[in-house]
Amino acid sequence: MGHALLHSINDFNEAKQVIAGGVNSPVRAFKSVGGIPPFIYKGQGCLLHDVDGNVYVDFVQSWGPLLFGHADAEIEERVIQTLQRGFSFGAPTELETTLAKKLVLSYEGLEKVRLVSSGTEATMSAIRLARAFSGKDDILKFEGCYHGHSDSLLVGAGSGCATFGVPSSLGVPQDFSHHTLVARYNDIESVKACFRQGNIGCVIIEPIAGNMGLVPAKLEFLQELHTLCQQHHAVLIFDEVMSGFRVAANGSQHYHHLVPDLVTFGKVIGGGLPLACFGGRSEIMDLLAPAGGVYQAGTLSGNPVAVAAGIVALEKIQRDPNLYDRLQVLAQRFCAGLEQAGEAHGFSVQTCVRGSMFGFFFSTQEVQNFEQAKQSDTGLYAAFHQKMLQKGVYLAPSAFESGFICTPMDPDILDQCLQKARESFEEIRHGV
Ligand SMILES: *Cc1c(COP(=O)(O)O)cnc(C)c1O
Repeated sequence: MGHALLHSINDFNEAKQVIAGGVNSPVRAFKSVGGIPPFIYKGQGCLLHDVDGNVYVDFVQSWGPLLFGHADAEIEERVIQTLQRGFSFGAPTELETTLAKKLVLSYEGLEKVRLVSSGTEATMSAIRLARAFSGKDDILKFEGCYHGHSDSLLVGAGSGCATFGVPSSLGVPQDFSHHTLVARYNDIESVKACFRQGNIGCVIIEPIAGNMGLVPAKLEFLQELHTLCQQHHAVLIFDEVMSGFRVAANGSQHYHHLVPDLVTFGKVIGGGLPLACFGGRSEIMDLLAPAGGVYQAGTLSGNPVAVAAGIVALEKIQRDPNLYDRLQVLAQRFCAGLEQAGEAHGFSVQTCVRGSMFGFFFSTQEVQNFEQAKQSDTGLYAAFHQKMLQKGVYLAPSAFESGFICTPMDPDILDQCLQKARESFEEIRHGV
């Protein structure tokens, strides 16, 4: 069985001539797993086809948006119909209200939304709004959570915990990072230390972290965080760009029933097209221009084609009350199989499932924060990734990402992938 990537290699070299690093988002370059990225020709259902004619079972699903797999027929049909009436108006449409109503009805405490085009825009805008509402400049985030690439959020923990953050990218002014404090995930003492240190007006967290691998927040930790925010008059933002409509129709609220002040969505709500939103209590949202004094805008915000795709995705979700249970059973089957396949060859695998999201670490300990995630065996992950790719299974090209089940997957296809996993572990163990 060959796995040639000749065309992809050419394409990658050509791309590098005119696109910085050859890719339009860094993780796509496969740097942390090695090898070169297959260039994709098309996707259909749970399968990806590359330009070399290789076919892969896709567990990345465009990093989460494609709950119904690639080129879902219903979404495609509505997108085409909508597109035929014009691509973009820069003026209000009824579609936007239809989508907003669906969002507001699905999440407790979400009274008003504003639609944007990316998760980065959603979190960046939510933070500006939170600062305006609280009247305080300092914000708190958690190590290992990702909220897009705006300056205030590209900040990591310095040495030692509960300290002002340090830029995690060149080009982020030190002065900005001084307004971002960084606490340890699932560690309430580190949060308290941050509250003592800064004048925090906003806390942003992935209540189910999917960007350090899959690491859910503990119930008690989130409850205490919620209480601390209320005590300190800090706006609590749940970043559900990944978990929203992925773990359940009401996102992380399915697990804890906590109501944040603001929430962000993205990925699934656009059905695969560029769409995201932030929203929350009217009292806060009404501070946005034109009603209030917080500026936020977007030429393509609420784009009719993207909104139409999102509406169909949410309709399909609403219409199928067992959707997440079914996907979760599949995710659990896959994770149990991975654990067994690893253990049969002497590799410890820690797995985690939340609805249609799953994660696995090559580690002997349960992972509760980013420090522990980094202690997992990323070298083994890279080797496993390469083997699986060669055998037609497309896993995230980084150990610190989540995997996604989509509706076109079934037990048979997962079992075929697990067979590839067994072969991969066997080959790795024997150094083949
Ligand atoms: C993907 C993601 C973002 C960023 O969204 P983009 O659309 O890539 O800008 C923000 N927060 C979380 C939790 C995400 O998973």
